[in-house]
Amino acid sequence: MLVESCPQQTLQHVTAARQRGLLTGCVPTMGALHQGHVSLMQRARSECGYVTATIFVNPTQFGPQEDFSKYPRTLQSDLQLCEQAGVDLVFTPQTDQMYAADAETVVQVGRLTTLLEGAHRPGHFDGVTTVVAKLLMITQPQKAYFGQKDYQQQLVVRRMVRDLNIPVEIVTCPIIRESDGLAMSSRNRYLTAEERQTATALSGALRLAERLCSQSGAVPSVVEQQMQQMLLQTPGLVLQYAVLADPETLQPLPERVPSGTSCVALIAARVGTTRLIDNLLLVFG
Ligand code: AMP
Repeated sequence: MLVESCPQQTLQHVTAARQRGLLTGCVPTMGALHQGHVSLMQRARSECGYVTATIFVNPTQFGPQEDFSKYPRTLQSDLQLCEQAGVDLVFTPQTDQMYAADAETVVQVGRLTTLLEGAHRPGHFDGVTTVVAKLLMITQPQKAYFGQKDYQQQLVVRRMVRDLNIPVEIVTCPIIRESDGLAMSSRNRYLTAEERQTATALSGALRLAERLCSQSGAVPSVVEQQMQQMLLQTPGLVLQYAVLADPETLQPLPERVPSGTSCVALIAARVGTTRLIDNLLLVFG
């Protein structure tokens, strides 16, 4: 496995792989890797001849009050996980290798980035789309792997790729969870034992929504209210949003929906100082 911090060298390695006729895949991450990330790498390994993982804690997608400086950085164990997952190349640049001091280009997707995460984290998606566009240029993947865990992110990346005609297929992979339902996240390691227990309320509320939605005649706003009520009653948890939305546009659902309608339930909440998100795709009964 090669480990490379230089964008030009990385591009050369990947270009050589493409010239050898290998299908190239990329798994962008911020490191502090866990089994969720590993599942993306394994999927890439099973589908591609040359797999690049990127590890870069991208400063431009963090707000001024957010956890950029304390974000976990565990490069040595990350590299072990990449190696075990069969990654060919890890691109792990320093910030000044990614951004020139006078960089002034931003990739911005429109309305889709103003809702939900975008509303709670102003500027976040501009940072994400700009860095993902750069990572795609540098690692030249034919397939790029993202987690459903960041549901809105994968939608925004898909929109960017379509709108800019970037020649890559975006593959969205299922959420990997702990045995008690908590979605794996690099941020889970911030949680105290008590907070860790509280955090299971997110997946609990999603399962409640799933149960309610599956009943015939279920009403979206009622399901939403039940989900919100459960979270609002959880001590130690501060709810930011818990909604049902159209799985493509993230717009609210109409008052009545026919049986068989798909939607996504999305939750964001703070537990202590840690901000957590989770989601589940649902079908109305
Ligand atoms: P991050 O390092 O948090 O930026 O995540 C890198 C990629 O891994 C993103 O596409 C995430 O959606 C994905 N990811 C994070 N957690 C999980 C998880 N629990 N299951 C599946 N994918 C995940």
